[in-house]
Amino acid sequence: MNILAFGPNGSGKGTQGAIVAKKYGLDHIESGAIFREHIKGGTELGKKAKEYIERGDLVPDDITIPMVLETLGKSKGNGWILDGFPRSLAQAEALDKALKESGMPLDYVLEIVLDRNIAKERIMGRRLCANDPNHPNHIAFEAIKPVEKDGKLVCRVCGGELSTRADDQDEEAINKRHDIYYDDKTGTMAAVNYFKNKSDAKVISVDGSKGIQEISEEILSQIK
Ligand code: AMP
Repeated sequence: MNILAFGPNGSGKGTQGAIVAKKYGLDHIESGAIFREHIKGGTELGKKAKEYIERGDLVPDDITIPMVLETLGKSKGNGWILDGFPRSLAQAEALDKALKESGMPLDYVLEIVLDRNIAKERIMGRRLCANDPNHPNHIAFEAIKPVEKDGKLVCRVCGGELSTRADDQDEEAINKRHDIYYDDKTGTMAAVNYFKNKSDAKVISVDGSKGIQEISEEILSQIK
């Protein structure tokens, strides 16, 4: 089963993607996480991508598109859930073409709908676990609040060290990321609409203002 996951930064898309991936044994492919791995590992690709990511700009297509398509091509097994790509109409067209050429079906388009102001508030409160980026931690949500250990906040799932992403604390970078997401001419909303209208995939659209569990139940109930 292959799924495209859409939602603005802060909508809980990564958390929901991880839940769906686990339930169906899918590869959870996150373009942002692949970039962060490259930056951490000091690769050439990481060095090139770093400045764009810190500013909240898109990494250029000539770096991003081959990187994501290569990862998709390596996915074996039950399928994948792709998160963070495509983020523009041009990326949507490139992905559509690559899927068709390789005969890879697209089964679901998942869209998490969330108001821009709420998304921004959520981004600023999230904390990243050093052991697993899919361990949800957020200082403003009771259900996923980090726990205190030796006077320090640590991951509520595994006790791992927590950090913030630099681009999560920079309001200008957040606004830029959201400008790109909510742009329905050439940005991510254009990519969402492209796949909603042009593919045979079933569309699952959920209200991202609800709680994590409620959203995941709604998503899972629509996957057959
Ligand atoms: P994310 O973790 O999805 O918020 O992505 C973090 C950053 O990685 C973004 O703000 C972009 O700079 C970069 N990035 C992730 N996915 C893409 C993409 N599909 N196209 C271009 N840049 C991307």
